[in-house]
Amino acid sequence: MTTAQLRALDAAHHLHPFSDTKGLNAEGVRVIVKAQGVHLWDSDGNKVIDGMSGLWNVNVGYGREEIVEAVAQQMRELPFYNTFFKTTHLPAIELSRLLAEVTPAPFNHVFFTGSGSESSDTIIRLVRHYWAARDRPDKAVIIARRNGYHGSTMGGASLGGMGLMHAQGGLPIPGIVHIAQPYWYGEGGDLSPDEFGLWAARELERAIDEIGADSIAAFYAEPLQGAGGVIIPPATYWPEIQRICRDRNILLVSDEVICGFGRTGEWFGCQYFGYEPDILSIAKGISSGYLPIGGVMVSDKVAETIINAGEFHHGYTYSGHPAACAAAVANIRILRAEGIVERVRDDIGPYMQKRWLALADHPMVGEARMVGLVGALELTPNKATRASWPVETGTVGLITRDFSFRNGLVMRATRDTMIIAPPLVISHDEVDALIACAKKTLDDAWTEVK
Ligand code: PLP
Repeated sequence: MTTAQLRALDAAHHLHPFSDTKGLNAEGVRVIVKAQGVHLWDSDGNKVIDGMSGLWNVNVGYGREEIVEAVAQQMRELPFYNTFFKTTHLPAIELSRLLAEVTPAPFNHVFFTGSGSESSDTIIRLVRHYWAARDRPDKAVIIARRNGYHGSTMGGASLGGMGLMHAQGGLPIPGIVHIAQPYWYGEGGDLSPDEFGLWAARELERAIDEIGADSIAAFYAEPLQGAGGVIIPPATYWPEIQRICRDRNILLVSDEVICGFGRTGEWFGCQYFGYEPDILSIAKGISSGYLPIGGVMVSDKVAETIINAGEFHHGYTYSGHPAACAAAVANIRILRAEGIVERVRDDIGPYMQKRWLALADHPMVGEARMVGLVGALELTPNKATRASWPVETGTVGLITRDFSFRNGLVMRATRDTMIIAPPLVISHDEVDALIACAKKTLDDAWTEVK
């Protein structure tokens, strides 16, 4: 079939997530047909660098035969069985053990889900169940942040602080409160990054004072906000959040769906930023996306209460799907055997950061930022004022994203912020090629919108 025929069929029957369907049908979707390493090929034969690792998840890159083989073998042996009603199977046992090894010391128990969104929903129920089991059923409110992202289910989208998502479907659900985000470039005003980091963290304290610690179950946040625009909190932010959660007896949930499994150059984002959460939400990089799987990890303190509380009336048919567990086991073995996380910390991360941060010299870039292998460019028509473009120009992020694809690089756009998060196995030469595409893209977009 030709690309035109594939597009017509897709437009006739397929409703896409997070896509403007009207525009989509007119322009036609991109049809991706294969992938290898850090590259994708579309149905017209174009080869592009996947600068987003799929959706920030293909950490070990495409075409890993070890994962394919492990899944095929598991499918032959036991394609499905559940983990309800006191049953388990070999891949779930092995994955639980491995996760206890690669997460920080107090995390030794996992509840399996099928995705990051299911992990979010699980955590809403789990933290309330935890406090109820400790005779504190009133501790039920969860504090999260504006412009955070925690998934698309009712619970996940409610925890998230995305206005456009809340506007569709009457969200957030009751019992979820949002506070400021630590977005210094966009909202820091005259404060220094460190001053602003403290101010943003103390918004949590102000919310607790207003609501009352006796009513609050947890604070829920990403180590750095991914979908919100790779917002990297100032150094003062996380230590202060940690202090407040401890002082006020509130559980700290770290949503590691993007940061987990090496993205920041540490295994988990909380290790990069130096805080100690009670609960981890994991997905994406756990299997490098080869099969869908997620999980919720609880610290020993939380596990003890949950275990002693008896049955948690919660679970998904695919909690601990055997083939998905096998994919995750093979993926974690690759991450370890090839020292991929350490390579991000010591070698390829610093190499790419230096080149990415130099893009700040471009006339269109107000700020370039990156940790590990996740970064962003803030686009602006005026570096001094950090202004936005007038509405008539259109969304410059989307214009730039289209140039980028044509130039051979997938970048993502959130408003006028460009996002990059390549597979962790990217080579030095591939980083050079990625940066060259990004530069050309900025030149093309600048010519169009300046
Ligand atoms: N949490 C974070 C931080 C995410 O970035 C995402 C997805 O991008 C999710 C949760 C939701 O994960 P999923 O799309 O697997 O449901």
